[in-house]
Amino acid sequence: MKSYVKELAKNRNLPDKELLALIRGGVDELLEKEADKARKKVFGDRVYIRGLIEISSICKNDCIYCGIRCSNSKAARYRLTKEDILSCCRAGKELGFSTFVLQGGEDLYFTDDVLCDIIVGIKNIAPDAAVTLSLGERSKESYRRLKAAGADRYLLRHETATAEHYEKLHPVGMKLDVRKKCLFDLKEIGFQVGSGFMVGSPYQTDEHILRDIRFLQELKPEMIGIGPFVPHKDTPFGGFQSGSLELTLRLISILRLCFPEALIPATTALGTIAEGGRERGLQCGANVVMPNLSPKAARESYNLYDNKLITGAESAEGLKILEEKIKSAGYSMTMSRGDAPGFAKEQD
Ligand code: SAH
Repeated sequence: MKSYVKELAKNRNLPDKELLALIRGGVDELLEKEADKARKKVFGDRVYIRGLIEISSICKNDCIYCGIRCSNSKAARYRLTKEDILSCCRAGKELGFSTFVLQGGEDLYFTDDVLCDIIVGIKNIAPDAAVTLSLGERSKESYRRLKAAGADRYLLRHETATAEHYEKLHPVGMKLDVRKKCLFDLKEIGFQVGSGFMVGSPYQTDEHILRDIRFLQELKPEMIGIGPFVPHKDTPFGGFQSGSLELTLRLISILRLCFPEALIPATTALGTIAEGGRERGLQCGANVVMPNLSPKAARESYNLYDNKLITGAESAEGLKILEEKIKSAGYSMTMSRGDAPGFAKEQD
């Protein structure tokens, strides 16, 4: 195993058999150490902070794993207004945030016109801030308009790169090919693109994970988000187990070695399944944290999975606590834009 880690660190890649062995391996201190070395070489000890604004829990989709799927009649539904969103950004700017991530269900209210108007509004408030969107599948023309309005980045996880598995996680009609096309469209248009997958989602195998890594190698995203699957009780997957902390951490390290220049978040889901999970994520190669800037009521209703963390270091008000946690994990918090290398407007 040791030689596989060394080879991965050197070549950023491994043949299938060796990569599978690493995916399957146990806790591996060398893997973690090499991943940390790789992130430090590109990013130093900096951890980038993004302000997450959950703009709507209304969704036309019915992804089987997700708590805000349209057929969950128990989900609390809300939608932030333009003014709500701009207030979050003003508050975020005061706190020093320079990236705002607008995430939500696929809510048809948010047409291109509505979104473009909001993006322009944010850029008026904070001209130097980056706007990241995470609003699901849209047409290429739509992505083009959002980019032209000033959006900088787009997050769209592929969820799983194996078509049969994709169909087990999604309703009839949602196809992996469509998701992939969206991702390649976003790249072509010039967004900094983020993709990724859930770890330990129902029916996931190690071979699926291998294919996920191979797909990411093809896409070459600037950002890679992975986090454990966490069941939501009012979904058909409510009875499945959460993804494991160990596997998620190991995959963060493997991804760091495959993609030394990627921005990789230590996700809220990781913090949800284990105390200190996010700090462990940082030590295994992650370099982004996304505290919640949403209004309190929205935070409580935007439940993709059960037991989501919403206060303390997970919230924007808890920035000081977060800074302490990042420090005690051995890193330093930065509020700078943190563009992907190659996209940076200024060096930070
Ligand atoms: N509607 C947007 C945003 C989705 S939420 C979109 O489709 O991209 C962001 C991510 O949360 C999803 O991509 C998914 O990977 C993750 N997620 C959803 N339900 C989850 C669950 N039960 N456990 C863990 N992660 C989940």
